Amino acid sequence: MDEAPSPFAFVAVGRPVRGEFTYSVPPELLGQLKPGQRIRVPFGRSVTLGFYLAPAPQPPPEVVKKLRPIERILDPEAAFPPDVVELIRFAANHYRYPLGEALRGALPPGLTKADDGKTAKADVTVFARSLPAATLEPLTRAPAQHATLSYLLAVGGRAPVEEIAHAIPGAKENLKKLAARGFVALEEEKVVHGIREGLQQSRPDALTPEQEIAVATLTKSLDAGGFAPFLLHGVTGSGKTEVYLRLVERALELGKGALILVPEIALTPQLVGRFRSRFGQNVALLHSALKDRERLRHWQELRAGTVKLAVGVRSAIWAPVPNLGIVVVDEEHDPSFKQEEKLRYQARDLAVMRAKQAGAMVVLGSATPSLETWENARKGRYGLVTLTKRVDDRPMPTLELVDLRLERPRTPETRGTEPPMLSPTLRTAIGQTLDKKQQVILFLNRRGHSTFIVCEVCGQSIRCEDCDVCLTHHLSARQLQCHYCGRGSPVPKACPSCSGPMLELGVGTERIEAEVADAFPTARIARLDRDAASSAEKLTDMLAAFARRELDILVGTQMVAKGHDFPGVTLVCVVMADSALTLPDFRAGERTFHLLTQVAGRAGRGKDPGRVLVQSYNPEAAPIARMLQNDYARFSEEELRRRVQLAWPPTTRMVAIRIDSESADLTIRVAKQLAKVAERNLPPPSRGVRMLGPAPAPIARIKGKTRWQLVLKAPTHTAMFRTLDAIEAAMAELPSAVRVVIDVDPAAML
Ligand code: ADP
Ligand code: ZN
Ligand code: ZN
Repeated sequence: MDEAPSPFAFVAVGRPVRGEFTYSVPPELLGQLKPGQRIRVPFGRSVTLGFYLAPAPQPPPEVVKKLRPIERILDPEAAFPPDVVELIRFAANHYRYPLGEALRGALPPGLTKADDGKTAKADVTVFARSLPAATLEPLTRAPAQHATLSYLLAVGGRAPVEEIAHAIPGAKENLKKLAARGFVALEEEKVVHGIREGLQQSRPDALTPEQEIAVATLTKSLDAGGFAPFLLHGVTGSGKTEVYLRLVERALELGKGALILVPEIALTPQLVGRFRSRFGQNVALLHSALKDRERLRHWQELRAGTVKLAVGVRSAIWAPVPNLGIVVVDEEHDPSFKQEEKLRYQARDLAVMRAKQAGAMVVLGSATPSLETWENARKGRYGLVTLTKRVDDRPMPTLELVDLRLERPRTPETRGTEPPMLSPTLRTAIGQTLDKKQQVILFLNRRGHSTFIVCEVCGQSIRCEDCDVCLTHHLSARQLQCHYCGRGSPVPKACPSCSGPMLELGVGTERIEAEVADAFPTARIARLDRDAASSAEKLTDMLAAFARRELDILVGTQMVAKGHDFPGVTLVCVVMADSALTLPDFRAGERTFHLLTQVAGRAGRGKDPGRVLVQSYNPEAAPIARMLQNDYARFSEEELRRRVQLAWPPTTRMVAIRIDSESADLTIRVAKQLAKVAERNLPPPSRGVRMLGPAPAPIARIKGKTRWQLVLKAPTHTAMFRTLDAIEAAMAELPSAVRVVIDVDPAAML
């Protein structure tokens, strides 16, 4: 027997206010409300978007009198499937963010207002397909067409026009021109549902023995159903993507949905291409450049169950994938899974939670798993599946140290500038590689020309007036630039304090590019960093050109370290391994190890073996030493021990409370005040909650704002609840000129 529907409802409103509210349910809406459904409710003096959550018990009579009724139901079905409502509830609670705002923020545009939702037309999709005649050479003088065709080729030769247009502005016009040239065919297609049509072109005939075992183990668990978390730890080039693809095939066969989270779609057109060519149009591709209309269409297709597979960046964690069978997080260690504004979630952690709530399998894949995930695997909380070899028995690249203390001694001639960053060893190796017509990647984790400029006489450096960081020299823009606020200023000819000569110290990608161009004048060189690849168009073009081997050398920041699969690359040079080691962040070592290992993994993925040269002043440092030994396990064990000793995550839970304002006095006063509140509300010492600070943040000023922070550490999140509740209550009373954010499980400490 169903109980009679309650005339009272718990509702979250889409406003930045905490808590759930009770409304009365008018008789005509009784029995029609579904959890997660969008409704319209009066709130304060206006009406607002709300979400029905659950039936509420009968409140006391004096409260009932004051209750206001739900005005109306906006869509016949709930916007979210129940597991996503549960997930958002968990996230709002865990990350301390208003539930209604969290629900609203997870919706696609078009559904975020208190009106009837828009409906996207989804019947016919126009696809562009590259024809055999398509070549890029004749297009060099038509850069827009060039970029468009490059994209199409990079994703496997066929993609919806809308998707290309998101990546490349103006693509629609260009596709028409390309069609007129006979390079591209435009095909209208009814969105046909059901898996595997026109697919299979890229399916390898056989799995490697290790892939075979991995797929068998994971498939068994998938078939059994229920929550099952796994770490897929596979060395670079071991074919993790193929494992994901097989699991997704299986999930779809079982009639279940699949969700694949990837770090950045613009950087991984190959991965997208593999999903696209395997699953055709049955993929909802959710990237950050998506247009509103398209985002809404994908949402509605998933919600209706006509598309069951979503591939997307971190925000795809909310995608309404129906009947979820599997969640995959590719490159799970990647920092981009952490959202750094509004609801500050970690999508990888939520992926595990979502799988748990949906009773699904979750696979976290990486060559360099985060310590959080590694710890869970070694404690047996996650199953562990390992790929130790590359596909086709290709060897791992050789790893060699270039000790800069020996290769780059300072001499009287080097006064006034730093000696060149390309050591003789690097030059020789690059020359040999180019002679063999193979490709080179040079990695340096810093943009610009030189990292900072100091006076040779008095030592003064040029800093940003608004931020507490040194300015970086950008040669191409002929200016100094702040990497935090973007402010540019001219390069001083002499020291502003003593008129002494200025010395350029440190290096950036721009300077390396110049040095390489000097040393190898005939080589075709491109630079991949946020300055050079300022648009998705340029980025795709550059990656595609490198893949087609129209470039010999790619110089770049961590953008070159992502999961690229360029078979022509046989030499990877790390220009300065130490550059990120000294950052005042407890994860600096881990991050360095990951980056170096990932970038090294770009070498030797084709038939020719790879070689990696690592330049360092500090080769004894654990992240560099262990990377050179290719010893992930040992690095992680040692790093975990260090974290235990110092009580850092993942062996401790941490929350950062960040305070900033235009006024240093105000920031400091509020920081101290909140610290007092925290102190007064710490649980008994036996619960192990500790407070650090208040103290200036490692970067004490950004964009003219003074920043302080307060850190709480505890064995569990629950131990901190009361303290955080008290801080939140105190935050509500603060002047609006100060901003306080609570960052639960913070990723970066800068
Ligand atoms: P990872 O993500 O583990 O670094 P990828 O998934 O990019 O590795 O695979 C590396 C390369 O090996 C890709 O070019 C992929 O197409 C190829 N590959 C994967 N599995 C197989 C297989 N079983 N047989 C042949 N080639 C494969
Ligand atoms: Zn000076
Ligand atoms: Zn600045």
